[in-house]
Amino acid sequence: MQMEAMYEGLGISRSVYEYGEKILAELRPRFDGIDQVAEYNQAKVVAAMQKNRVNATHFAATTGYGYDDEGRDNLERVYADVFHTEAALVRPQITCGTHALAVALSANLLPGDELLSPVGAPYDTLEEVIGIRESRCSLKEYGVRYAQADLRSDGSFDYDAIRGKINERTKLITIQRSKGYATRPSFSVAQIGELIAFCKGVKPGVKVMVDNCYGEFVEPLEPSDVGADMVVGSLIKNPGGGLAPIGGYICGTKECVDRCAFRLSAPGLGQEVGANLGLMPAFYQGLFLSPTVVSGALKGAVFAANLYERLGFPCVPNATESRHDIIQAVTLGSREAMVAFCRGIQAAAPVDSYVTPEPWAMPGYDSEVIMAAGAFVQGSSIELSADGPIRPPYAVYFQGGLTWYHAKLGILMSLQKLLEAGLTQLP
Ligand SMILES: *Cc1c(COP(=O)(O)O)cnc(C)c1O
Repeated sequence: MQMEAMYEGLGISRSVYEYGEKILAELRPRFDGIDQVAEYNQAKVVAAMQKNRVNATHFAATTGYGYDDEGRDNLERVYADVFHTEAALVRPQITCGTHALAVALSANLLPGDELLSPVGAPYDTLEEVIGIRESRCSLKEYGVRYAQADLRSDGSFDYDAIRGKINERTKLITIQRSKGYATRPSFSVAQIGELIAFCKGVKPGVKVMVDNCYGEFVEPLEPSDVGADMVVGSLIKNPGGGLAPIGGYICGTKECVDRCAFRLSAPGLGQEVGANLGLMPAFYQGLFLSPTVVSGALKGAVFAANLYERLGFPCVPNATESRHDIIQAVTLGSREAMVAFCRGIQAAAPVDSYVTPEPWAMPGYDSEVIMAAGAFVQGSSIELSADGPIRPPYAVYFQGGLTWYHAKLGILMSLQKLLEAGLTQLP
């Protein structure tokens, strides 16, 4: 087998390839652990599909109102069984993760209610949903208040502060599993379970929603297994398996999910309407592939942390930490290094590989941003992609990879570009 020659044809030098192989040789036990989680989650998905007797009629397209859409309704039963919840709302009419979260929040909070985040500030796009940043149609405009308990400086939960923020108005608690673009750690499902138990101990009956974006199938359990009333995410991240071209999901108690359905469509209509537009094959097959796809992305993240940490670039999570989402941050320390890294990711893509990413001003950001993505589904971040704001500490966030081999190629190519620009040296 001419592996080195194949990589050289793609632009990876022999020395970069060999350095990668040396790193990889030490990662086999980590990879075995990732494979075991994927195997467990694969069985979980297959069991849910078998229980619900998935068959070819469930792949039929519907149009118009979408009444009696058995494929859609059965997919929602499958999701509910995978996440061990009473109900699920899984729809192409949910346009993205932010939309799914906005539906879940606005459906379950009424004027006078208070929303609490016990884990510090939420993901950027939720600031306008909640009204932390003034925005038309925010929850704040509708009279929903917001409270926040920040994490301690070591990233742990500040239980005293959380107890102090729970009051008679507190109706819903929102917990974000992945760090997103913050520097705090991502939370394990076990940690989320402890936090939920604490909050429900302080106020029995309070509802808990978990923003599950980037976390699905990273662990054997999901937050809905440890007390969350709703778990919410995007289908162009983990659970769409790279095949879903759009969509979002909300899994949870029947009470919460019913309200979400009435908010998404209309009071009285709920889950009865919403044609599937021919997307069922992608949704079912994407969910089926998702545990494997997530495992490939995780291997890529672990490989990158080990490869870059050894070259002196700080990584979050670091080379040895356990993983609770698929995001990897690498602090590169300069604008030039961020550009070189992203050019490597882009050059390794199956789509748009000939394009050169450039830092650019973006709406909503106070510094330039660079993005690299060559994806089959535009904006899909379960596919190999990287981005970051061009400002200190000059960190790139990268994630995804539909296959481990492609994630590996992208990471090797990013290193190749850094070396060619004279911005690092192999040990
Ligand atoms: C991606 C993400 C969102 C928002 O999802 P979009 O599909 O980009 O709207 C929310 N929360 C977290 C933690 C995310 O990673």
